[in-house]
Amino acid sequence: MKIMKFGGSSVADASRIKSVADIVLSKAENEETGPVVVVSAMKGVTDILLSAAAAAESGDNLYKKLILDLKQKHHQAVKALVSDNSIGVTLLIKIDAILDELAEILHGVELVKECSPRTGDLISGFGERLSSLLTSAHINNRGVPCEAVDAREIIRTDDAHGRAAVDFKTSGELIRKRIVTGSGNTPIYIVTGFIASTSQGVATTLGRNGSDYTASILGAALDADSVEIWTDVDGILTADPRIVPEAWVIDEISFQEAMELSFFGAEVIHPFTLRPVIEKNLPVFIKNTMNPSAPGTRIARNAAPKDRPITGIASVDDVSMITIEGGGMVGMPGIASRIFASVARTGANIIMITQASSEHSVCLVCRREEALIAAEGLEKDLSDTLHSGIIRSIRLNDGLEIVAVIGENMQGQPGLSGKLFSALGDTGVNILAIAQGSTELNISFVIKGDDKNTAITAIHRAFLSQRPRG
Ligand code: ADP
Ligand code: ASP
Ligand code: MG
Repeated sequence: MKIMKFGGSSVADASRIKSVADIVLSKAENEETGPVVVVSAMKGVTDILLSAAAAAESGDNLYKKLILDLKQKHHQAVKALVSDNSIGVTLLIKIDAILDELAEILHGVELVKECSPRTGDLISGFGERLSSLLTSAHINNRGVPCEAVDAREIIRTDDAHGRAAVDFKTSGELIRKRIVTGSGNTPIYIVTGFIASTSQGVATTLGRNGSDYTASILGAALDADSVEIWTDVDGILTADPRIVPEAWVIDEISFQEAMELSFFGAEVIHPFTLRPVIEKNLPVFIKNTMNPSAPGTRIARNAAPKDRPITGIASVDDVSMITIEGGGMVGMPGIASRIFASVARTGANIIMITQASSEHSVCLVCRREEALIAAEGLEKDLSDTLHSGIIRSIRLNDGLEIVAVIGENMQGQPGLSGKLFSALGDTGVNILAIAQGSTELNISFVIKGDDKNTAITAIHRAFLSQRPRG
């Protein structure tokens, strides 16, 4: 049995949803059980929901117009996707009830002029509830039994709103109870991506782009044969195609390499997607809904070795670097642990760390908003060391970019960094900090945001201009 996940661009409008149904139904015909399908919200809907929440919070009536836009968009899709009158009427009643619920919640936000992270999670998950109903009704309309499943019933998380952590044991039990496959006449399940709930039944989300993660959670829980992530590109490319148009599809990649690429910003999969499937050695395929016959990328433990040192390049936009500097830190035990404990207290996620060998400075790189909070926390928590002069300054630099070069073959390749940094040097890009993982799976560095395209294009040209044959 397969898990097939379709992203926002794959369910962007009625004609795309028809293509999704074509792909799902052809799979259903050829296989004994399943597939189990996961869908994102229609493209742009999650952003609209977040804008509506922000508008309501600031007392702006715009949110009412945004609800009407959503209603029109989904009604239009129903018209194009469902010809059977009774399926259509039932669907419209459900969609309108969901949108009425949304309007009530947003009205509440307007009244209290506050949208907490908890309410934000509830609001941002409405898109998946709507798209799963639409897709399942369309498949029913084509005469195939199909059922929408709200993942809040089956995926349990903690209450870290916006980026909730999954309780795999409870979720696994709930998933296996609700999604019964293998008996031949079970329906096709269309599960909402992205959303989940706490043990108290409070709505949570798995983070932006989280539907990929939903798919792999289901894959591991149901012991699927594979997980397919259907999107709008032919697979994982050697670099973001919007930055490097000549980037090409990587046919096979290891779990570790794919994890590094996604951690460093390749949004084609959510960074947590591979966690649940690695242990079970479940292969993940990235496929293109607009080009279903293309082979895509296979992510697996036994990916074929490559004949090049670098597999791919990724980047994280809009990061800031906190530089903690001071001669007094040299050889002083405990200072690093105080720094990390302080950052952990603020909840900021550190993407990259460097320390000069002289120990004069420690650099931490985080997303801009998180860096701001982390720097404030450090000023407070390390104030004694600032007063005593052990630490001279805590500086924050904005508008930066992390670029990461990933590849298992970098291990033990002397001269690779030299080639990398001379390719950058030739283009005049200035490097502010460098880190290399001890596994030598990635080299990451910080540059000014404005240098991103130049840097990535230069590295791609130096290492990946030769597309492998075959
Ligand atoms: P979906 O809506 O299907 O979840 P996303 O927009 O989240 O799709 O992810 C697909 C997009 O990721 C592609 O359209 C592409 O622009 C971007 N992307 C960034 N880096 C890469 C990469 N290395 N390979 C493929 N796509 C990438
Ligand atoms: N709809 C959510 C988002 O836009 C989740 C997803 O698409 O994976 O982030
Ligand atoms: Mg996505």
